[in-house]
Amino acid sequence: MSPPLAYRRVLLKLSGEALMGDEDYGIDPKVIARIAREVIEARDAGAEVALVVGGGNIFRGAGLAASGMDRVTGDQMGMLATVINALAMQDALEKIGAKARVMSAIKINDVCEDYIRRRAIRHLEKGRTVVFAAGTGNPFFTTDSGAALRAIEIGADVLLKATKVDGVYDRDPKHHADAVRFERLSYDDVINRDLKVMDTAAFALCRDSELPLRIFDMSQPGQLLRILQGENIGTLVQG
Ligand code: UDP
Repeated sequence: MSPPLAYRRVLLKLSGEALMGDEDYGIDPKVIARIAREVIEARDAGAEVALVVGGGNIFRGAGLAASGMDRVTGDQMGMLATVINALAMQDALEKIGAKARVMSAIKINDVCEDYIRRRAIRHLEKGRTVVFAAGTGNPFFTTDSGAALRAIEIGADVLLKATKVDGVYDRDPKHHADAVRFERLSYDDVINRDLKVMDTAAFALCRDSELPLRIFDMSQPGQLLRILQGENIGTLVQG
């Protein structure tokens, strides 16, 4: 019998950029197909996996506002971008025979379900992968906040934030060859050292609810399952 998993219910946050692969814009079908396979591998190992997808590969409200658009309209476009990504992820999951449901924080129920907490939990209990779209449903927030919020609401054991960097460093590893990666941090370490883990609102939610957070590089195949099996990959932030 395989050993018990380190986490039973997880929320995996994928940025829009993570879906883009090496492209400059949009979605790379090869990348979402691989992510879908890894999510199903995790589910088959016994985990319940919920996803939150970002939208930065298509639109970001702040970027649109900087070029003159009304910020709220820009954020609404950003949220719709996350719905597009979520539908692509649902499709990739279903292509490999998994059951998936997109649940949106904004009402757009001709194309996906509205987010209803109890229904989301039911989907997970039935082995379906839930893809949460539209972040928190409110402008001026990010999908990191959406991920923290949903993780807490569904009682996830951990929030796994997939990035292009393999954890949290003391300095930007792109510019400092001697930057050191932290294996483990407390919430207070992140605040006192002013480390960029996620935006402040999202981080405050995690800290206030003592939700463990792991930052890791999902472009490395197999990391998700290894984390579930208890390997100390990336950086773990908890109290
Ligand atoms: N957004 C929003 N409210 C939310 C989540 C997202 O208004 O609760 C908008 C915002 O404009 C954001 C865009 O959707 O820039 C895409 O989300 P995000 O930037 O978090 O995507 P990621 O960086 O993860 O790809």
